[in-house]
Amino acid sequence: MELLADDIVPEYAREVKHEAREFAEEYIAPNAEERFREAEYPHDILEAGQDAGLVAQDIGEELGGRGLDVVQMLAVAEEWFRADAGIALSLQLASFGAEIVEKYGTDEQKEEFLRPVAEGDQITGLAVSEPDTGSDLSGMQTTAERDDETDEWVLNGEKYWIGNGVEGDWLTVYARTGDDEDNRYGNHSLFVVPTDAEGYEAEHIPEKMGMRASKQAHIVFDDCRIPAENLVGSEGAGFMLLAEFFNHGRVVVAGHGLGLAAAAFEEAWEFVHGREEFGRTIADFQAVQHGLADMRTEFESSRALTYRAAEKVRDGDNPGLWAAMAKTKATETATDCAEQGMQFHGGRSILTDRRIARVYRDVRIPVVYEGANEIQRNLVYRQS
Ligand SMILES: Cc1cc2nc3c(=O)[nH]c(=O)nc-3n(C[C@H](O)[C@H](O)[C@H](O)COP(=O)(O)OP(=O)(O)OC[C@H]3O[C@@H](n4cnc5c(N)ncnc54)[C@H](O)[C@@H]3O)c2cc1C
Repeated sequence: MELLADDIVPEYAREVKHEAREFAEEYIAPNAEERFREAEYPHDILEAGQDAGLVAQDIGEELGGRGLDVVQMLAVAEEWFRADAGIALSLQLASFGAEIVEKYGTDEQKEEFLRPVAEGDQITGLAVSEPDTGSDLSGMQTTAERDDETDEWVLNGEKYWIGNGVEGDWLTVYARTGDDEDNRYGNHSLFVVPTDAEGYEAEHIPEKMGMRASKQAHIVFDDCRIPAENLVGSEGAGFMLLAEFFNHGRVVVAGHGLGLAAAAFEEAWEFVHGREEFGRTIADFQAVQHGLADMRTEFESSRALTYRAAEKVRDGDNPGLWAAMAKTKATETATDCAEQGMQFHGGRSILTDRRIARVYRDVRIPVVYEGANEIQRNLVYRQS
């Protein structure tokens, strides 16, 4: 049974999907259990992904990347997340937020910051969430103030949960540059912040129960100074640029859900066909067969919706609505499939070295990041 079948994937995205599968089979799946246990950043696998031309390749060809579009990034995501979500997240976050700089940055910013990421010499990340604010993008408190004497921006505040906050070379940082209560969506701006800037401090957040082969940071900006030209786009446009970016990114997060749901289904299928009780395999019980049938049906519906959404996002056809529907459906299918897969594993479900136990913990995360699913439902309602 081929769950991540090619037929639904537009033809032009199949080649990179096959490359991603080959890479996953060689580098991700065989290391998944060990890397989950160790909870270390997978530097060597990231490097292999850069050498294979699969990391940060959403960046355009003129800047050294392959210019993979959202459908192609989705095809890569489902393959990698099926193999292991923690390692996959580390690989996919290497260019998180770079798209905003590519679309709205100056030529100088693109050459200085994007080219090294596309060429595999640097990695980046996107710093939005804060210790006291997550879902409310217009409520973020980190500030950036202009110092006209030195022609710099001065950042103060904290960020939390930031992928590559420790490992990255620079980040796209979302900070408050205004305080207009009548215009909550015009108070923030985006900046390129090198992680070696004075006043930038980052440490890893405490151990996580899921996606352990990915690392996130707690960042403190203490009078962190960056050149005036590191503003991305125009002052006050940060909220709008970010909202547009997430419309895009969320359909790839749906791919995280698809990969995880496929992993849960495969594990459940294999287990119930091998485990015997009452003198037969448990797959002979109709209740078990129905459980698997429901998992498969939900998986296929989610995948159909997600690929449809990806094409809508690519074509700019009501992207926010489609990305939010796909993200909600696919990530919740992953939690449902993991829950059923655990039940079918009986007591063995809680053995920590089991793939199903890993998947069960990993599925908790895509229902939250890039906007909790409640926020997605708000978007679906409003945009319907
Ligand atoms: C592994 C991981 C990696 C991450 N990587 C990054 C990263 O690289 N960069 C970054 O900036 N952030 C990152 N995040 C942060 C992530 O985007 C936030 O966790 C997410 O936006 C939710 O914010 P919060 O955790 O503060 O939850 P809160 O905003 O405090 O929300 C908690 C819960 O309250 C409910 N809720 C909140 N608002 C509403 C509402 N309006 N309506 C109904 N219910 C609501 C939901 O159930 C929600 O789950 C990451 C998070 C994780 C777990």
